[in-house]
Amino acid sequence: MMPVPEPAPMRDWTKLAAMIDESDVMVAFTGAGISTECGVPDFRSPDSAWKRNAPIPFDQFLSDEAMRLEAWKRKFAMDDLYAGAQPGRGHAALARLFQSGKLSHIITQNIDGLHQASGVPAKRIIELHGNGTYAQCLDCGGRHELHDVRRVIAEAGAPPACACGGIVKSATISFGQAMPREAMQRARNATLSCDLFLVIGSSLVVHPAASFPLIAKDNGARLVILNAQPTPLDSHADLVIRVDIGDTLHPIGNVGNSLPQAAEKTPL
Ligand code: NAD
Ligand code: ZN
Repeated sequence: MMPVPEPAPMRDWTKLAAMIDESDVMVAFTGAGISTECGVPDFRSPDSAWKRNAPIPFDQFLSDEAMRLEAWKRKFAMDDLYAGAQPGRGHAALARLFQSGKLSHIITQNIDGLHQASGVPAKRIIELHGNGTYAQCLDCGGRHELHDVRRVIAEAGAPPACACGGIVKSATISFGQAMPREAMQRARNATLSCDLFLVIGSSLVVHPAASFPLIAKDNGARLVILNAQPTPLDSHADLVIRVDIGDTLHPIGNVGNSLPQAAEKTPL
């Protein structure tokens, strides 16, 4: 009797499990797709709430106070939409991989703080686009809390300034704003030290963040892209899985607290 072919997702999953099994140093590169099951909308899905509250580019934010007020209004509208979001199955799987010693770093484009909330130490999380859970002075770098910013805006009708006189902005990297040098360097170092680079939930169209998968591949690492929609880097990947992130990652390391044993160990 002819063997019944496995459905494609199971075959892909087995390959992914084998690649994780064979890896000594893994890096995960995450985008908005890992957080959609937590209620945080991604950027490019057709009916994304980000389209109604489009981020204000950096030069416009700097240009005048009315723009800054509008930027805060849109940010708080988005924050309210997913207030209380908790890490999802993808975040939890990465936390298990970190605890098992497989995963060295998470490079993330996300600003939602959910990797930290999943228990991965902050020093192992490299935030390329900053963090939206607090604010910072653009001059002195001092930290400001969002509830204080909200209070000042409610009371004064104008965005707050820092004690040093500098402009206070969400601690995220806006379109047109320089990338954080230290985070970029750390991401590069982590990328060059891994043998498996796992992209999860990114359209891979935002640069320079999207350059890291190719840096890993050129350096000899295996590249896996787990994303519902095609990405421009799919043809470079050793494995492309176009299914749901939570469904795919949930079983990873979830059985008896050990990594799933791959059924096949053939070269991929
Ligand atoms: P993106 O919106 O461009 O791409 C997300 C990808 O994830 C899409 O291709 C989509 O098909 C896929 N996806 C969504 N849910 C999925 C699921 N359950 N399973 C499988 N695939 C799924 O996101 P990006 O590449 O991260 O770029 C967006 C930019 O906007 C980033 O720079 C980021 O800073 C910012 N952003 C952050 C957040 C966040 O922090 N959670 C959310 C939206 C946007
Ligand atoms: Zn300041």
